[in-house]
Amino acid sequence: MTQLESIMAANRRFTKPNAFPPLPKSPKKQLAIFTCMDTRLVDFLEPAMGLKRGDAKVIKNAGNIIVDPMAGAVIRSLVAGVFMLGVEEIFVIGHRDCGMAQLDAESVKRDMIQRGISQDVIDIHVPDLKQWFGIFAHPVENVERVVKIIRHNPLIPKDVPIHGLIFCPNDGHLDVVVDGYSQESFAAHIL
Ligand code: ZN
Repeated sequence: MTQLESIMAANRRFTKPNAFPPLPKSPKKQLAIFTCMDTRLVDFLEPAMGLKRGDAKVIKNAGNIIVDPMAGAVIRSLVAGVFMLGVEEIFVIGHRDCGMAQLDAESVKRDMIQRGISQDVIDIHVPDLKQWFGIFAHPVENVERVVKIIRHNPLIPKDVPIHGLIFCPNDGHLDVVVDGYSQESFAAHIL
């Protein structure tokens, strides 16, 4: 059975008429989370935060990185969340043991070439692969940096607290990196 067939079979077992009460589009808890796409966070981060379906907007990318501070997809989603969908607080949540920390850009480049992406395409479109990916040294530093980027974005109102947290994908523990109410940073204690 292919992945697609297996997913469609699971879906036929999952859906039942009227099993799920309709929910509003706006998050019940008026918050947005920006986190990593790491598979260990699926069905784990939200329960660890006491959140359920319908409670929060969740934006994900590889490493919860912002490489385009003004017009990137993450900022657009956050601005849409604040102005169209009732988001009142933002949580940037990195995690320990993140694959995007210390990623070896040269090895990725070699894999790309091996899979048929030409050196020319790489040179033209992603000459600095490390910068393009937004690779960081430590997830805590990245959370602190991303909180600052969102805080300083002129399209995000100043009355929206931007919190920074770090999550353990093994035991579900959260630490506060930046308290968005006071803007106090605890990164130095956590690193
Ligand atoms: Zn990650």
